[in-house]
Amino acid sequence: MKLYNSLTRSIEGFTPINPPSVSLYTCGMTVYDFAHIGHGRKYVGDDILRRTLSRFGYQVKHVQNVTDVGHLSSDADEGEDKMEKGAKKYGKTVWEVAQFYTDHFYESMDALRVLRPTIVCKATEHISDQIALISKLLEKGLAYDTPEAVYFDVTKFAGYAELFGRQKLEDKKAGVREAVVEGEHKKHAADFALWFKRVGRFADHAMHWDSPWEDGFPGWHIECSAMSMKYLGDSIDIHTGGIDHIPVHHPNEIAQSEGATGKPFVRVWLHYNFLRVDGKKMSKSLGNFYTIEDVVQKGVNPLALRYFYLTAHYRSELNFTWEALSAAGSALKELQGQVRTLRSQLQKRNALSDEKLEKIDAFRLRFDEALANDMNTPQALAVVWELLKSNITSQDKYDLILDFDEVLGLGLAEVKEAVVEAVPDDIQELLMKREALRKAKKYQESDDIRKELQQKGYEIEDRPEGATVKKI
Ligand code: AMP
Ligand code: ZN
Repeated sequence: MKLYNSLTRSIEGFTPINPPSVSLYTCGMTVYDFAHIGHGRKYVGDDILRRTLSRFGYQVKHVQNVTDVGHLSSDADEGEDKMEKGAKKYGKTVWEVAQFYTDHFYESMDALRVLRPTIVCKATEHISDQIALISKLLEKGLAYDTPEAVYFDVTKFAGYAELFGRQKLEDKKAGVREAVVEGEHKKHAADFALWFKRVGRFADHAMHWDSPWEDGFPGWHIECSAMSMKYLGDSIDIHTGGIDHIPVHHPNEIAQSEGATGKPFVRVWLHYNFLRVDGKKMSKSLGNFYTIEDVVQKGVNPLALRYFYLTAHYRSELNFTWEALSAAGSALKELQGQVRTLRSQLQKRNALSDEKLEKIDAFRLRFDEALANDMNTPQALAVVWELLKSNITSQDKYDLILDFDEVLGLGLAEVKEAVVEAVPDDIQELLMKREALRKAKKYQESDDIRKELQQKGYEIEDRPEGATVKKI
């Protein structure tokens, strides 16, 4: 299998540290607001990765953090705390906010058939692990204590400039110090907080714990290093995040982890590109912030959203529009319909000729190749549609589709039989009236009836054997 490593910026052959085990850490949610369809893209991506690894015979141990601790709004340590902002907005305590949005997140992911991680770990339940890690960094001279925070000293970690970008680091040092009151004692503007103290604007910070350096709370994402090491070991195979994590979050995670252990932290850094809505960044102020519930409320199956995500490669930006979702919904319905038909045509299989076996294997191979090639899901979907059009038997198609769906996760094995509802008499009458008008070439009047039927919730389908209606 090949994966794009955003650290080396190249596609690399993937070999785990201890095959067949794979240690996978998927950076989790900051639970201060509702999970949205952009999050869905990242976590469905993780799900495809995990299912693909399992398909290729790996045993995946999947760990995910929940950032339920005070987490600053931006990487520059400025701005208001995200959790407190969420709490104020919704009139709850920070703990209630965290639990509420954690539940909401996992329920949203369930609706998208995202498998739950092997281990979900909350930052607030791992404070002592984070304190231990910070202590180690202090012992090694890679961190320093100040009146406002314990900082990581980026100049002491060889290779930080490479990770962060040499020029960017210079600019940061030379540039105006951001409006960082609490950054007053930083030795270098790029030094980042490992532990915040309750001083200055953090004096009333709601979540805080005892520590060897005064009561306070952990800096952003020291939790990822501490919990990744705790559950998966000092070195792991894959760590994932959204592309916004590449520039700052990950250099800092690498520096603080490798600084403490002296070992490589992560083999492959995998990052998902963003989902945009109508070509714009999703935000509440633009009114284009959608949750999974919003999708359901529009009468769309959440799995249509999952299908939509799969239509783009994870490293490309994906633009959400309701039209595009509707097209994905139609494709999913068509796929479900074909699975239903195939199921009704299943026969006992006779011994397969070599030629047929080769055809089946060729489809399986092409599907696997698409996934093995840095998770090319659009290509994998193309193989599905080609398979459906091919002339192999219904039984073989059905078996292959369900096999492929172990990775696609569209729930095709659970597709229900179509419910055939009787068409009410008045609708049937209108349909017959329209047929008669069409025969008489009275197209204007027949079109009026089509519209009337539409208003009553029925769409006419003209077929060679005669017109029928279906519920809209
Ligand atoms: P958050 O906790 O909100 O920072 O986000 C959790 C994860 O979702 C991070 O890995 C983000 O990079 C990712 N993410 C946030 N918004 C989007 C988006 N619009 N598209 C794709 N991934 C996103
Ligand atoms: Zn992380």
